[in-house]
Amino acid sequence: MSVYLDFLGATGEVTGSRSILQIDGDPGPKSFRVMIDCGLYQGSSDSRAKNWLPTQPKPDDVDAIILTHAHLDHSGRLPRYCREGYRGPIFCTNGTAELAKILLLDAAFLEEEQASYARRTGYSHHKSPEPLFTEADANLAIDHFKTVPRDAWQTLSHNVQFKFVRAGHITGASLVQFSIDDGGVSKLITFSGDLGNNRSITMRPPANISETDILVLESTYGSRNHSRLPGSQLLGDVIQRTMAHNGVLVIPAFAVGRTQELLFMIRQLEDQKAIPCVPVILDSPMASAATRTFLQHPEDHLLATAANGEVSGFLPRLFETTDSTDESMAACMKDGPFIVISASGMLSGGRILHHLKARLSNPKNTILFVGYQAEGSKGRYLLDEGKTAGKIRIFHTEIPIEADIEFIDNLSAHADQQDLIEWVARIQRRPKKIFLNHGTLAASTALADKLRQRLPNTDILTLGAPTRQKI
Ligand SMILES: [Zn+2]
Repeated sequence: MSVYLDFLGATGEVTGSRSILQIDGDPGPKSFRVMIDCGLYQGSSDSRAKNWLPTQPKPDDVDAIILTHAHLDHSGRLPRYCREGYRGPIFCTNGTAELAKILLLDAAFLEEEQASYARRTGYSHHKSPEPLFTEADANLAIDHFKTVPRDAWQTLSHNVQFKFVRAGHITGASLVQFSIDDGGVSKLITFSGDLGNNRSITMRPPANISETDILVLESTYGSRNHSRLPGSQLLGDVIQRTMAHNGVLVIPAFAVGRTQELLFMIRQLEDQKAIPCVPVILDSPMASAATRTFLQHPEDHLLATAANGEVSGFLPRLFETTDSTDESMAACMKDGPFIVISASGMLSGGRILHHLKARLSNPKNTILFVGYQAEGSKGRYLLDEGKTAGKIRIFHTEIPIEADIEFIDNLSAHADQQDLIEWVARIQRRPKKIFLNHGTLAASTALADKLRQRLPNTDILTLGAPTRQKI
């Protein structure tokens, strides 16, 4: 029997997660192939162009897909793959299925909107701009979801089993372990997916594993450590200062994870009387949906839950959501003091742009970034050059930048270098081999150097480009 790992995406980069575990020759000539994640490439246009290529291997050659979590860089190519003919199961946890449904349908809606806008305005170099995938494609993928509980072995074939284990990253997120039986000897292979950390106030930490022969480990923050200062202190200071001037605090946030962390942090600051109670408006239907899903999964969150499943003391005291674009526009006109959380987190589109347009030119207001801003994004521009440049273009209008611009970098849902090393060091029976994916080559190389010091008997490999490995 031969076992191979094909690393097809997230090699030397942080998006496009897609790997294949292939088992040959037992019995007969047919290979058994399972795909782990099927994610979108995001970021630069070169990277995104890869989303339009047919997904390899051909759908008929894949027997099953395992989805570690709902983020689009892990799930976003499933709709196209199903349209291309994939008809097998997509195994995931309940939480992942619920979140992936929200994220995939939202992404399909945006894709269809952008294509129709480009067709109407001629704003595209394509003759007939098409969405990458449609709502119908997303629903096709969702129909293939097969949910399974964590911590229980599931049978994939006569000699392959898999098990999900909590990854602590977002609701439903799981690492996956495969057990392959080779004539009575079992080989354990673990894919970390994206790992969380133990500093979140809302999410349970990643579970430890006791053993694995092979580990495929993410290395998003392989070269960095997040600040260990509590994020709530800076958040409290920013809220105090902005509210003292009757200003508006605008927080561009990611719908899944950071929004829930922020809401609870604000509530805790209110309970500690560290900040005044002001209205907190969540202006993102997707973030509202993700928050409902988050609250329904106590196996992943840390909040106190009553016997009837109700969570109390989580939302800010004067919490509001917007149900329509009219309500969203009304929030743009409303006088301070109040806080508004809206998407998208990197200002690539969405309602947040209207809030910025309305608030940036007033020095009483603050814009608070709570997550990584990609190179080339409007968010990165505001953070790096905004104040010096003095203006930013939003909806074809130059807006003067007078508001304060702040940044908190310790709300990440990812493990950092130290977290990754400590998580690996807690594996009692150490892996023989570790492959580092889901990181730039610089990040995975830095992590590999540190891991080699800690685990001198383990072979540690970085993955700079798609590659096949026999294991
Ligand atoms: Zn993720």
